[in-house]
Amino acid sequence: MRYFIFILFTCYSSLCVAQTQRCSTDEYRENLKEKGLFRHHKTHVSSNNIHAGNYVIPVVVHVLYNNEEENISDDRIYSQIETLNTDYNAGNTELSNVPTEFASIVGNVGISFCLVQEDLDGNSFSGINRVYTDVLSFNMSDDSMKKSSEGGVDAWDSNNYLNFWVCNLSGNLLGFATMPGDVEPELDGVVIDFEYFGVNIDSASPYNLGRTATHEIGHYLGLEHTFYAGCSDWDGCDDTPSTSSPNYGCPAFPQESCSTIDMTMNYMDYVNDACMYMFTECQANIMINSLVNLRSDLIASTDCSVSINDLSSSHILIYPNPVADKMYIELNASFVSIFDIYGRHILSKDIQNSVVLDVSYLASGTYFLFDGTGFQRFIKQ
Ligand SMILES: [Zn+2]
Repeated sequence: MRYFIFILFTCYSSLCVAQTQRCSTDEYRENLKEKGLFRHHKTHVSSNNIHAGNYVIPVVVHVLYNNEEENISDDRIYSQIETLNTDYNAGNTELSNVPTEFASIVGNVGISFCLVQEDLDGNSFSGINRVYTDVLSFNMSDDSMKKSSEGGVDAWDSNNYLNFWVCNLSGNLLGFATMPGDVEPELDGVVIDFEYFGVNIDSASPYNLGRTATHEIGHYLGLEHTFYAGCSDWDGCDDTPSTSSPNYGCPAFPQESCSTIDMTMNYMDYVNDACMYMFTECQANIMINSLVNLRSDLIASTDCSVSINDLSSSHILIYPNPVADKMYIELNASFVSIFDIYGRHILSKDIQNSVVLDVSYLASGTYFLFDGTGFQRFIKQ
Protein backbone atom coordinates (compact mmCIF):
# COMPACT_ATOMS: atom_id res chain seq x y z
CA MET A 1 0.00 0.00 0.00
CA ARG A 2 2.80 2.33 0.93
CA TYR A 3 4.26 1.82 -2.54
CA PHE A 4 1.20 3.19 -4.27
CA ILE A 5 0.96 6.12 -1.95
CA PHE A 6 4.55 7.05 -2.74
CA ILE A 7 3.99 6.98 -6.48
CA LEU A 8 0.88 9.11 -6.13
CA PHE A 9 2.72 11.53 -3.92
CA THR A 10 5.54 11.84 -6.40
CA CYS A 11 3.22 12.94 -9.14
CA TYR A 12 1.29 15.42 -7.04
CA SER A 13 4.43 17.10 -5.87
CA SER A 14 5.60 20.18 -7.71
CA LEU A 15 8.52 18.34 -9.29
CA CYS A 16 6.80 15.37 -10.80
CA VAL A 17 9.51 12.96 -11.93
CA ALA A 18 7.76 10.65 -14.37
CA GLN A 19 6.76 8.23 -11.63
CA THR A 20 10.36 7.43 -10.82
CA GLN A 21 10.41 5.54 -7.56
CA ARG A 22 13.06 6.98 -5.29
CA CYS A 23 13.66 3.81 -3.30
CA SER A 24 12.13 0.34 -3.39
CA THR A 25 13.64 -1.16 -0.25
CA ASP A 26 10.36 -1.15 1.68
CA GLU A 27 8.51 -2.70 -1.22
CA TYR A 28 11.28 -5.26 -1.64
CA ARG A 29 10.84 -6.29 1.99
CA GLU A 30 7.08 -6.64 1.46
CA ASN A 31 7.81 -8.86 -1.53
CA LEU A 32 10.08 -11.06 0.55
CA LYS A 33 7.37 -11.48 3.14
CA GLU A 34 4.78 -12.41 0.52
CA LYS A 35 7.11 -15.04 -0.91
CA GLY A 36 8.07 -16.40 2.50
CA LEU A 37 11.70 -15.42 1.92
CA PHE A 38 11.89 -12.76 4.58
CA ARG A 39 14.10 -14.12 7.31
CA HIS A 40 14.48 -11.04 9.38
CA HIS A 41 13.70 -11.33 13.04
CA LYS A 42 13.51 -7.67 13.87
CA THR A 43 16.58 -7.27 16.01
CA HIS A 44 16.94 -3.90 17.57
CA VAL A 45 20.16 -2.37 16.40
CA SER A 46 21.67 -0.27 19.12
CA SER A 47 22.22 3.40 18.53
CA ASN A 48 24.74 3.54 21.36
CA ASN A 49 27.83 5.45 20.50
CA ILE A 50 30.60 2.96 19.78
CA HIS A 51 32.14 5.14 17.15
CA ALA A 52 35.60 3.71 17.28
CA GLY A 53 37.20 5.04 14.15
CA ASN A 54 37.17 4.40 10.48
CA TYR A 55 36.12 1.21 8.78
CA VAL A 56 36.58 0.08 5.21
CA ILE A 57 34.05 -1.99 3.30
CA PRO A 58 35.31 -3.89 0.23
CA VAL A 59 33.04 -3.42 -2.76
CA VAL A 60 32.51 -5.38 -5.95
CA VAL A 61 30.45 -3.69 -8.67
CA HIS A 62 28.67 -6.05 -11.06
CA VAL A 63 27.79 -4.12 -14.21
CA LEU A 64 25.10 -6.03 -16.10
CA TYR A 65 24.74 -4.59 -19.58
CA ASN A 66 22.81 -5.32 -22.72
CA ASN A 67 24.02 -2.23 -24.58
CA GLU A 68 26.83 0.29 -24.34
CA GLU A 69 24.77 2.83 -22.42
CA GLU A 70 24.23 0.31 -19.65
CA ASN A 71 27.92 -0.59 -19.65
CA ILE A 72 28.78 2.48 -17.58
CA SER A 73 32.32 3.81 -17.55
CA ASP A 74 35.00 3.18 -14.96
CA ASP A 75 34.86 6.90 -14.18
CA ARG A 76 31.17 6.67 -13.30
CA ILE A 77 31.98 3.86 -10.91
CA TYR A 78 34.91 5.74 -9.40
CA SER A 79 32.66 8.76 -8.94
CA GLN A 80 30.22 6.59 -7.02
CA ILE A 81 32.90 5.30 -4.66
CA GLU A 82 34.14 8.83 -4.16
CA THR A 83 30.61 10.10 -3.44
CA LEU A 84 30.13 7.37 -0.87
CA ASN A 85 33.46 8.06 0.77
CA THR A 86 32.67 11.75 0.93
CA ASP A 87 29.14 11.33 2.24
CA TYR A 88 30.04 8.63 4.77
CA ASN A 89 32.87 10.73 6.18
CA ALA A 90 30.98 14.03 6.42
CA GLY A 91 33.22 15.47 3.74
CA ASN A 92 30.50 16.81 1.45
CA THR A 93 30.56 20.53 0.91
CA GLU A 94 26.76 20.87 1.24
CA LEU A 95 27.06 20.28 4.98
CA SER A 96 27.47 24.03 5.28
CA ASN A 97 23.82 24.26 4.21
CA VAL A 98 22.57 22.27 7.19
CA PRO A 99 20.16 24.53 9.11
CA THR A 100 21.21 25.72 12.54
CA GLU A 101 18.49 23.56 14.07
CA PHE A 102 20.29 20.40 12.95
CA ALA A 103 23.92 21.48 12.81
CA SER A 104 24.85 20.00 16.17
CA ILE A 105 23.64 16.50 15.35
CA VAL A 106 25.32 15.95 11.98
CA GLY A 107 26.80 12.46 12.06
CA ASN A 108 30.16 11.46 10.63
CA VAL A 109 29.73 7.77 9.91
CA GLY A 110 33.43 7.05 9.43
CA ILE A 111 33.04 4.26 6.88
CA SER A 112 34.96 4.16 3.62
CA PHE A 113 34.40 1.99 0.57
CA CYS A 114 37.09 0.37 -1.54
CA LEU A 115 36.88 -1.50 -4.84
CA VAL A 116 38.33 -4.95 -4.23
CA GLN A 117 41.72 -5.47 -5.78
CA GLU A 118 41.69 -9.25 -6.19
CA ASP A 119 39.17 -11.52 -7.85
CA LEU A 120 37.95 -14.74 -6.28
CA ASP A 121 40.96 -16.60 -7.70
CA GLY A 122 43.42 -14.17 -6.22
CA ASN A 123 44.22 -12.43 -9.48
CA SER A 124 44.63 -8.68 -9.77
CA PHE A 125 41.21 -7.16 -10.27
CA SER A 126 39.64 -3.74 -10.77
CA GLY A 127 36.67 -4.32 -8.47
CA ILE A 128 34.41 -3.94 -11.52
CA ASN A 129 32.79 -7.09 -12.86
CA ARG A 130 31.33 -6.43 -16.30
CA VAL A 131 28.89 -9.05 -17.55
CA TYR A 132 26.96 -8.96 -20.81
CA THR A 133 23.37 -10.12 -20.48
CA ASP A 134 20.56 -10.94 -22.88
CA VAL A 135 18.08 -9.61 -20.37
CA LEU A 136 16.73 -6.23 -21.47
CA SER A 137 15.59 -5.18 -18.01
CA PHE A 138 15.53 -6.76 -14.57
CA ASN A 139 12.63 -6.99 -12.17
CA MET A 140 13.10 -6.23 -8.51
CA SER A 141 10.49 -8.80 -7.57
CA ASP A 142 12.42 -11.86 -8.74
CA ASP A 143 16.01 -10.85 -7.90
CA SER A 144 17.04 -12.13 -11.33
CA MET A 145 19.96 -9.69 -11.49
CA LYS A 146 21.51 -11.68 -8.63
CA LYS A 147 21.27 -15.05 -10.41
CA SER A 148 23.54 -16.10 -13.26
CA SER A 149 20.97 -18.73 -14.21
CA GLU A 150 18.53 -15.91 -15.00
CA GLY A 151 20.83 -13.57 -16.90
CA GLY A 152 22.24 -11.87 -13.84
CA VAL A 153 25.42 -12.54 -11.94
CA ASP A 154 25.82 -14.45 -8.70
CA ALA A 155 26.86 -12.56 -5.60
CA TRP A 156 30.39 -12.76 -4.39
CA ASP A 157 30.35 -14.00 -0.80
CA SER A 158 28.20 -11.27 0.69
CA ASN A 159 29.64 -11.83 4.14
CA ASN A 160 32.96 -10.54 2.85
CA TYR A 161 31.95 -8.12 0.08
CA LEU A 162 29.36 -5.47 -0.47
CA ASN A 163 27.85 -6.50 -3.79
CA PHE A 164 26.49 -3.79 -6.06
CA TRP A 165 24.41 -4.87 -9.03
CA VAL A 166 24.18 -2.08 -11.60
CA CYS A 167 21.62 -2.92 -14.27
CA ASN A 168 18.59 -1.74 -16.19
CA LEU A 169 15.84 -1.94 -13.56
CA SER A 170 12.31 -2.16 -14.88
CA GLY A 171 9.50 -0.03 -13.51
CA ASN A 172 11.39 3.27 -13.18
CA LEU A 173 13.07 2.08 -10.00
CA LEU A 174 16.24 3.80 -8.86
CA GLY A 175 17.39 1.08 -6.51
CA PHE A 176 16.86 -1.10 -3.47
CA ALA A 177 18.90 -2.71 -0.74
CA THR A 178 18.73 -5.60 1.68
CA MET A 179 18.88 -4.79 5.36
CA PRO A 180 21.14 -6.81 7.68
CA GLY A 181 19.76 -10.31 8.16
CA ASP A 182 16.77 -9.88 5.85
CA VAL A 183 17.77 -12.35 3.15
CA GLU A 184 19.92 -15.36 2.37
CA PRO A 185 23.51 -14.39 1.57
CA GLU A 186 23.00 -15.01 -2.17
CA LEU A 187 20.55 -12.10 -2.33
CA ASP A 188 22.34 -9.71 -0.02
CA GLY A 189 23.51 -6.39 -1.44
CA VAL A 190 22.46 -3.25 -3.24
CA VAL A 191 20.87 -2.92 -6.69
CA ILE A 192 20.96 0.39 -8.55
CA ASP A 193 19.68 1.27 -12.00
CA PHE A 194 22.56 2.08 -14.35
CA GLU A 195 21.39 5.66 -14.92
CA TYR A 196 21.63 6.53 -11.23
CA PHE A 197 24.93 4.90 -10.29
CA GLY A 198 27.68 7.44 -9.77
CA VAL A 199 27.77 11.03 -10.91
CA ASN A 200 26.02 10.98 -14.27
CA ILE A 201 26.49 14.30 -15.99
CA ASP A 202 24.70 12.97 -19.07
CA SER A 203 21.51 12.56 -17.12
CA ALA A 204 19.03 15.39 -16.57
CA SER A 205 17.54 13.46 -13.68
CA PRO A 206 17.62 15.12 -10.24
CA TYR A 207 19.02 11.79 -9.04
CA ASN A 208 22.29 11.97 -10.95
CA LEU A 209 24.79 12.70 -8.17
CA GLY A 210 25.24 9.23 -6.75
CA ARG A 211 23.06 9.73 -3.70
CA THR A 212 20.84 6.76 -4.54
CA ALA A 213 23.71 4.55 -3.38
CA THR A 214 24.31 6.76 -0.33
CA HIS A 215 20.65 6.24 0.61
CA GLU A 216 20.57 2.52 -0.16
CA ILE A 217 23.70 1.75 1.81
CA GLY A 218 21.95 3.46 4.71
CA HIS A 219 19.37 0.65 4.49
CA TYR A 220 22.10 -1.95 3.96
CA LEU A 221 23.56 -0.80 7.28
CA GLY A 222 20.25 -0.88 9.12
CA LEU A 223 18.64 2.54 8.65
CA GLU A 224 14.95 3.11 8.06
CA HIS A 225 13.47 6.08 6.22
CA THR A 226 13.02 9.21 8.32
CA PHE A 227 9.28 8.93 7.62
CA TYR A 228 9.19 5.19 8.33
CA ALA A 229 6.39 5.31 10.89
CA GLY A 230 4.92 8.70 10.06
CA CYS A 231 4.12 10.85 13.04
CA SER A 232 4.55 7.99 15.49
CA ASP A 233 8.24 8.65 14.83
CA TRP A 234 9.85 5.24 15.01
CA ASP A 235 12.80 5.16 12.70
CA GLY A 236 15.19 4.01 15.39
CA CYS A 237 16.53 7.49 16.06
CA ASP A 238 15.48 10.23 18.44
CA ASP A 239 17.45 12.90 16.64
CA THR A 240 15.47 12.62 13.39
CA PRO A 241 12.23 14.60 13.76
CA SER A 242 8.86 12.95 13.14
CA THR A 243 8.03 13.16 9.45
CA SER A 244 4.57 12.30 8.18
CA SER A 245 5.51 11.25 4.65
CA PRO A 246 8.38 11.47 2.17
CA ASN A 247 9.61 14.85 0.98
CA TYR A 248 10.39 15.20 -2.71
CA GLY A 249 12.17 17.67 -4.94
CA CYS A 250 14.22 20.29 -3.17
CA PRO A 251 12.03 21.63 -0.37
CA ALA A 252 12.49 25.12 1.00
CA PHE A 253 13.36 25.23 4.68
CA PRO A 254 11.50 24.81 6.93
CA GLN A 255 8.95 22.14 6.08
CA GLU A 256 6.77 21.03 8.94
CA SER A 257 4.84 17.88 9.65
CA CYS A 258 3.81 16.20 12.89
CA SER A 259 4.27 19.61 14.58
CA THR A 260 8.03 19.51 14.04
CA ILE A 261 10.41 20.71 11.36
CA ASP A 262 11.22 17.94 8.90
CA MET A 263 14.84 17.07 8.31
CA THR A 264 14.31 17.05 4.56
CA MET A 265 18.05 17.14 3.89
CA ASN A 266 18.57 13.75 5.53
CA TYR A 267 19.93 11.07 3.19
CA MET A 268 17.08 8.80 4.28
CA ASP A 269 14.33 11.07 2.93
CA TYR A 270 13.27 11.09 -0.74
CA VAL A 271 14.51 14.49 -1.93
CA ASN A 272 16.72 15.19 -4.95
CA ASP A 273 20.36 14.15 -4.82
CA ALA A 274 21.52 17.75 -4.52
CA CYS A 275 19.20 18.39 -1.59
CA MET A 276 20.10 15.46 0.69
CA TYR A 277 23.36 15.89 2.54
CA MET A 278 23.40 14.65 6.12
CA PHE A 279 23.09 11.71 8.44
CA THR A 280 22.50 12.28 12.13
CA GLU A 281 24.72 11.05 14.95
CA CYS A 282 22.17 8.40 15.84
CA GLN A 283 22.03 7.18 12.25
CA ALA A 284 25.82 7.03 12.15
CA ASN A 285 25.84 4.98 15.34
CA ILE A 286 23.22 2.55 14.02
CA MET A 287 25.26 2.00 10.87
CA ILE A 288 28.47 1.40 12.81
CA ASN A 289 26.66 -0.96 15.20
CA SER A 290 25.16 -2.82 12.25
CA LEU A 291 28.55 -3.12 10.61
CA VAL A 292 30.40 -4.23 13.73
CA ASN A 293 27.71 -6.60 15.02
CA LEU A 294 25.81 -7.85 11.97
CA ARG A 295 28.20 -7.44 9.07
CA SER A 296 31.51 -7.79 10.84
CA ASP A 297 33.11 -10.07 8.23
CA LEU A 298 33.09 -7.12 5.83
CA ILE A 299 35.61 -5.20 7.88
CA ALA A 300 37.68 -8.29 8.59
CA SER A 301 38.19 -8.79 4.88
CA THR A 302 41.65 -8.11 3.52
CA ASP A 303 40.72 -7.98 -0.12
CA CYS A 304 41.09 -4.27 -0.63
CA SER A 305 44.57 -3.03 -1.26
CA VAL A 306 43.59 -0.49 1.35
CA SER A 307 42.72 -3.28 3.74
CA ILE A 308 42.55 -1.29 6.87
CA ASN A 309 40.47 -1.01 9.96
CA ASP A 310 41.76 2.32 11.05
CA LEU A 311 42.44 5.09 8.60
CA SER A 312 43.61 7.54 11.22
CA SER A 313 46.64 6.03 12.86
CA SER A 314 47.75 8.43 15.53
CA HIS A 315 51.45 7.70 15.02
CA ILE A 316 51.38 9.31 11.57
CA LEU A 317 51.32 13.08 11.52
CA ILE A 318 50.56 14.96 8.32
CA TYR A 319 50.42 18.72 7.97
CA PRO A 320 49.02 20.84 6.54
CA ASN A 321 45.91 18.83 5.84
CA PRO A 322 44.29 19.65 3.43
CA VAL A 323 47.50 20.15 1.49
CA ALA A 324 48.15 22.09 -1.72
CA ASP A 325 51.77 21.24 -2.56
CA LYS A 326 54.32 20.43 0.18
CA MET A 327 53.19 17.90 2.73
CA TYR A 328 55.15 17.35 5.95
CA ILE A 329 55.06 13.82 7.34
CA GLU A 330 56.20 12.60 10.74
CA LEU A 331 56.15 8.91 11.52
CA ASN A 332 58.32 6.02 12.70
CA ALA A 333 59.02 4.39 9.40
CA SER A 334 61.33 4.72 6.48
CA PHE A 335 58.95 3.80 3.72
CA VAL A 336 55.55 5.20 2.80
CA SER A 337 52.97 4.54 0.12
CA ILE A 338 50.06 6.65 -1.06
CA PHE A 339 46.75 5.20 -2.24
CA ASP A 340 43.89 7.07 -3.79
CA ILE A 341 40.33 6.84 -2.57
CA TYR A 342 39.67 3.89 -4.87
CA GLY A 343 42.44 1.89 -3.25
CA ARG A 344 44.82 2.32 -6.18
CA HIS A 345 48.50 2.60 -5.42
CA ILE A 346 49.88 6.01 -6.40
CA LEU A 347 53.46 5.98 -5.18
CA SER A 348 55.93 4.52 -2.71
CA LYS A 349 58.87 6.41 -1.34
CA ASP A 350 61.87 5.88 0.90
CA ILE A 351 61.97 8.44 3.66
CA GLN A 352 63.75 8.93 6.96
CA ASN A 353 61.25 9.46 9.77
CA SER A 354 60.30 12.96 8.76
CA VAL A 355 59.99 14.19 5.24
CA VAL A 356 58.60 16.83 2.98
CA LEU A 357 56.66 15.32 0.12
CA ASP A 358 55.67 17.33 -2.94
CA VAL A 359 52.12 16.28 -3.79
CA SER A 360 51.28 19.22 -6.03
CA TYR A 361 50.89 16.94 -9.02
CA LEU A 362 48.14 14.86 -7.40
CA ALA A 363 44.58 15.51 -8.52
CA SER A 364 42.31 17.07 -5.94
CA GLY A 365 40.70 14.50 -3.70
CA THR A 366 41.14 12.22 -0.74
CA TYR A 367 44.20 9.99 -0.35
CA PHE A 368 45.63 7.59 2.20
CA LEU A 369 49.22 7.50 3.34
CA PHE A 370 50.38 4.06 4.50
CA ASP A 371 53.56 3.47 6.52
CA GLY A 372 53.44 -0.32 6.81
CA THR A 373 51.48 -0.40 10.04
CA GLY A 374 48.75 2.18 9.64
CA PHE A 375 47.07 4.77 7.47
CA GLN A 376 46.44 8.45 7.64
CA ARG A 377 43.91 10.19 5.45
CA PHE A 378 44.77 13.45 3.74
CA ILE A 379 43.01 15.75 1.32
CA LYS A 380 44.79 17.23 -1.69
CA GLN A 381 43.30 20.62 -2.50
ZN1 LIG B 1 14.96 3.97 0.99
